[in-house]
Amino acid sequence: MDTIVALATPIGRSGIGVIRLSGDRALEITRRLARDDEYSPEPRQTTLKKIYDIESGEVIGDVIDQALITYFKTPHSFTGEDVIEISCHGSPVLLRQIIDICLKLDARMADPGEFTLRALANSRMNLSQAEAVRDLIDAQTRASARQAMRQLRGELSNELQPLKDALLESIVVLESALEFVEDDLPEVQAENVKQRLSAVADGVGAMADTFRAGKLLREGLKIALVGRPNVGKSSLFNALLGQDRAIVTEIAGTTRDQLHEKFTIENIPISLIDTAGLRETADTVESIGVERSKRTIADADLVIVVLDGSQELTLEDIDIIKSEAEQNKIVLVNKIDLISAEGTKQATEKIQSATKNSQLTIVEVSAKTGAGLDELERAMIEPFSLDNMGDSTGESGFLVSDARHHDLLLRAKTEIENSIDLMEQKTSEEITLVGLHNALRYLGEITGETTTEDMLTRIFSTFCIGK
Ligand code: GDP
Repeated sequence: MDTIVALATPIGRSGIGVIRLSGDRALEITRRLARDDEYSPEPRQTTLKKIYDIESGEVIGDVIDQALITYFKTPHSFTGEDVIEISCHGSPVLLRQIIDICLKLDARMADPGEFTLRALANSRMNLSQAEAVRDLIDAQTRASARQAMRQLRGELSNELQPLKDALLESIVVLESALEFVEDDLPEVQAENVKQRLSAVADGVGAMADTFRAGKLLREGLKIALVGRPNVGKSSLFNALLGQDRAIVTEIAGTTRDQLHEKFTIENIPISLIDTAGLRETADTVESIGVERSKRTIADADLVIVVLDGSQELTLEDIDIIKSEAEQNKIVLVNKIDLISAEGTKQATEKIQSATKNSQLTIVEVSAKTGAGLDELERAMIEPFSLDNMGDSTGESGFLVSDARHHDLLLRAKTEIENSIDLMEQKTSEEITLVGLHNALRYLGEITGETTTEDMLTRIFSTFCIGK
């Protein structure tokens, strides 16, 4: 294997920047960098070394940095190969220079996720654990980091193993019936196999059912603020974020483009989008905004329709509320500081009767004073709250959060259920077995036992460089 190099810390100025080398030549390259042929560190020991510049393979010039170098000897390293970590001063210029020197010394720039890919190739972890490394780095909240860590520690593989074992046992029984028995599988035995398979299908299904909660924890919610110009969308956006990010003015149509910010409500990452006004307009800049708003709305998990409580409800407001009937929606009556409690109540009733919908979630708020914002936050996550998802968080509390895993679990479940149906119809074992083998392959793909090269390339392209 060639030796790869990459910056393991983010690009930009920092106190320390870490460069990582992995491969047979990692130690040799470090000896050249440090101009020290005798350098033979103890594994997992850190040494302070001077780093020198190099040209055409020859060491030239002065010391360019002093760095802490740590050596991880194969196979006890992240990748399973010889690994060197160089902690230098975090200057982008310096880090680039040291990486360039490593390249001159025949290291190769690592592809995204290549260190983890090597860890996988050297059986330091399985595929779902490798994916957990990526998820841990990408985690937006503590809760999603904790889930990724659980996956990294092998919980997904551990939950799958008994299901795979039971599936394999059923396959073995059916295979042996095919091989050794002249007649069909005895009724009692067939019944046993069916029962066991149906328990496996249930187990796989239960894991798949945790995906909604898992996805929520990992990806969070996309929430769009829509409404006529001047109803107070930008003000609400700022109030929810607690900072002055959007421009607030009294001239209609100033939020020309979308603003996009992230925050969390009870551990759920929220991506809040303030859309441009939905008003049809001749202004090109604004009309581009209008087009984008429509797309954003279609894509959002929840739409908050903002109304100005101090103004009469317009036909346009009613249209906005009634559009995209399928979508999760909250109707928000803003500016309640300008109206009486009685006026607020009337506004709410008017909305219900005008839209002929008494099921609407209506929240009354003042973006100016902050009144009602707590209720708004609660209403935003309520339809998605884990409590409202029944038992879908599973017994162990481990959540499947990767769409690839979810898809494979569903496919495995369908294959097993179809095979049970075939057994009910007394179809030959040969045909029943095809689906069961498929199911076993799908479950194997989750942990990477039966994964193709293509798929690995696709998965690892989503990793960052240096990991
Ligand atoms: P947008 O066009 O929907 O984004 O509306 P803005 O957020 O720019 O607000 C339009 C005007 O309404 C501004 O003058 C805000 O100060 C004012 N405004 C927004 N929310 C409230 C509120 O809750 N109460 C009062 N009194 N004024 C508000």
